[in-house]
Amino acid sequence: MAPIRKVAVIGAGIVGSSSALIAIEKVPNIEVTLISETFSPFTTGDGSAGLWKPYLLGNVAPERLRFWLTKTFNFLQDIFMSENASECGVGLLPCYEISTTPLETPTFKDIFLDWRPMNSKEMALFPSRYKYGAFMTTYFAECTKLIPELLKKFKERGGQIIKQKVENFSELCGKYDVVINCSGIGATGLTHDPELKPIRGQVIRVKAPWIKYAVMDPEFYILPNAEETICGGTKQVGDWNLDIVPKDRERILSGCTDLYPSLKKAQVVREWVGLRPGRNEPRIERETIKTVKGTIEVIHNYGHGGSGVTIGWGCAHEAITLLEDALNDINLNNIRSHL
Ligand SMILES: Cc1cc2nc3c(=O)[nH]c(=O)nc-3n(C[C@H](O)[C@H](O)[C@H](O)COP(=O)(O)OP(=O)(O)OC[C@H]3O[C@@H](n4cnc5c(N)ncnc54)[C@H](O)[C@@H]3O)c2cc1C
Repeated sequence: MAPIRKVAVIGAGIVGSSSALIAIEKVPNIEVTLISETFSPFTTGDGSAGLWKPYLLGNVAPERLRFWLTKTFNFLQDIFMSENASECGVGLLPCYEISTTPLETPTFKDIFLDWRPMNSKEMALFPSRYKYGAFMTTYFAECTKLIPELLKKFKERGGQIIKQKVENFSELCGKYDVVINCSGIGATGLTHDPELKPIRGQVIRVKAPWIKYAVMDPEFYILPNAEETICGGTKQVGDWNLDIVPKDRERILSGCTDLYPSLKKAQVVREWVGLRPGRNEPRIERETIKTVKGTIEVIHNYGHGGSGVTIGWGCAHEAITLLEDALNDINLNNIRSHL
């Protein structure tokens, strides 16, 4: 029998938590350790609106994207249909997407529970400059609830957790056979990937329990979760500023209250800025990295842009397939070296 192999997952965001759980559930003969500098509620997903809908994702081959989207949508749907929907923060949400210019019909529209052009009565709900609109029914996942649930399951299955910043891969060399790199925008420090850039997002969370429908236009969005509504936003590429910018706040308030005037009376709960890990496409790729302490197998799983909650579970499945390949190669090399 092959020896027990050691796997480290860097990052406890939605992508790392999903990858760690799937690894420990799916792959035999491994020990998994999750190493992360921050944990929920301080990851990017915790501040996000958690809507299942691709956004700021780059160019992904349609079939690959469909796999990620379907896997994640079904994962959220299974949670929603279980008795754990509330503690996992998963809810069903009707959404209006409106635009002054024609909207493209998404190639994946069949994955939504429902996707159709808006009718004239629905269009009349919004300022008359909007001439085009689509209605869709989808899920949201609140990561402040979902990530701790994923990590609870991970620990129940024997997963180990370490709070630590990894400065470079050589630190892990000799201690782990394979590393899964789910460090989000933190991957800039670990990989120096020139393609990875922050896409800054500032949002305002309000109490508006009367708003049960999401609304998005190309610039602004109003996305209800179970208890709070997230009003956004910004998408500033290359901007690392984590401070609340008053000019952005004014712009968001003005854009969102133009769509839903009743938001003027909503109580502000908190403002937040997060950095989406922007890339031409997410990097899910195996790399053998030479370090000063030797070589180490790394499976990258970062760069999910504004869609980490939308595709994270599916991407984690792809990463774990690469993990299985890497472990097979390590075991084969081990056998060969003993022949
Ligand atoms: C305003 C805003 C709204 C959004 N809305 C949505 C939405 O509605 N739907 C959607 O799908 N997506 C949305 N997103 C995008 C989504 O939040 C991200 O794609 C997702 O959170 C990325 O997850 P991640 O796990 O890769 O990264 P992160 O959540 O950033 O997690 C990275 C983890 O790695 C750790 N880490 C990093 N570097 C190191 C290191 N060197 N050593 C150890 N640990 C390290 C960090 O501490 C952290 O725990 C939104 C983002 C923003 C900013």
